[in-house]
Amino acid sequence: MTLKIAVLPGDGIGPEIVAEAVKVLNALRDDFGLQVETEEALIGGTAYDATGTPFPAETLKLSQQADAILLGAVGGPKWEPLDYSVRPERGLLGLRSELSLFANLRPAILYPQLAAASTLKPEVVSGLDILIVRELNGGIYFGQPRGRRVNAQGEREGYNTLVYSESEIRRIAHVAFEAALKRGKRLCSIDKANVLECTELWREVVIEVSKDYPEVALSHMYVDNASMQLVRNPKQFDVMLTDNMFGDILSDCAAMLTGSIGMLPSASLDKDGKGMYEPIHGSAPDIAGKGIANPIATILSVAMLLRYSFNDGANADRIEQAVVSALDAGYRTADIYSEATQKVSTAAMGDAIVSALRASR
Ligand code: NAD
Repeated sequence: MTLKIAVLPGDGIGPEIVAEAVKVLNALRDDFGLQVETEEALIGGTAYDATGTPFPAETLKLSQQADAILLGAVGGPKWEPLDYSVRPERGLLGLRSELSLFANLRPAILYPQLAAASTLKPEVVSGLDILIVRELNGGIYFGQPRGRRVNAQGEREGYNTLVYSESEIRRIAHVAFEAALKRGKRLCSIDKANVLECTELWREVVIEVSKDYPEVALSHMYVDNASMQLVRNPKQFDVMLTDNMFGDILSDCAAMLTGSIGMLPSASLDKDGKGMYEPIHGSAPDIAGKGIANPIATILSVAMLLRYSFNDGANADRIEQAVVSALDAGYRTADIYSEATQKVSTAAMGDAIVSALRASR
């Protein structure tokens, strides 16, 4: 069976990093017999400029027809003055909700070669291996009503709604418990149950779901404490289960523990395992076009794509091993550079990983 992948490079550094990930896919196709086809489409600000919408109908169609989606990133200052309804981020949120990609898996792993690139002491982060499972289709980013208005006192007001149904909580909790079963069997659910009724329900439902997973040790933590614990003693965590907004924030924090946000892939899955794969970082407009972005998060997203959507652990392992080999050989993009290593461009890092992949044949 030929795997069809919709490739959506997006904005900013998106096209630069996705090009390197496609090189890796092509190497697997040419040298390892992976049967794969890729087709590109527009999303985000680039799509808005070309078509007047950040989420063109053709992009949705291609994504629906594909077996999996590989995305770069969207957004940038150029599109910030636009109305929210046509902002680049709407393209991404639209894709996540149209395809019901409700489960976002964000591993944060510290490669030993990068212990010096973390802002935390090596003993605090070495061996770090956390999986953040973030709910992606609900919560305050989607809740209605939302908007801006002028209140009775004539003041401007902004408002959003944090809302979760119990079925939404239950389905993401199952994903997190299943993931914990395959790892360290510890799950920490993050909420703010002392203040927010919605997350009080979150805690209640997670406890109910835990009855199906007696082997998994469940704990709960308020989000403010969790952010502190992530920096104080991150290795206490195995799987962290969070809602949409808390996960957005905590996963960036976890990313920094690993040295650079440019290292971390993610998977967003629907109930059948179809998924969209993307680096957790944004479009990095500050470095776009300079050829210095780190492509590793996107390349590792391809490994997740093969593992989760195609059950192809062998090729996923090959990619992950090739990344380790390139790091072992001392190649570093600017964001992970430290003394006695070799600073390389985005394309040179992609080439080093492809060479390591080919050498593993
Ligand atoms: P960002 O993740 O784009 O960048 C944060 C910092 O990390 C910047 O200094 C950037 O240079 C650096 N960085 C990010 N990726 C890197 C990489 N691969 N290699 C080296 N350095 C890297 O976050 P931001 O600056 O807050 O947002 C920029 C734009 O991206 C905004 O328009 C935002 O809305 C959008 N955004 C998109 C996504 C997405 O597409 N999934 C996610 C987050 C932010």
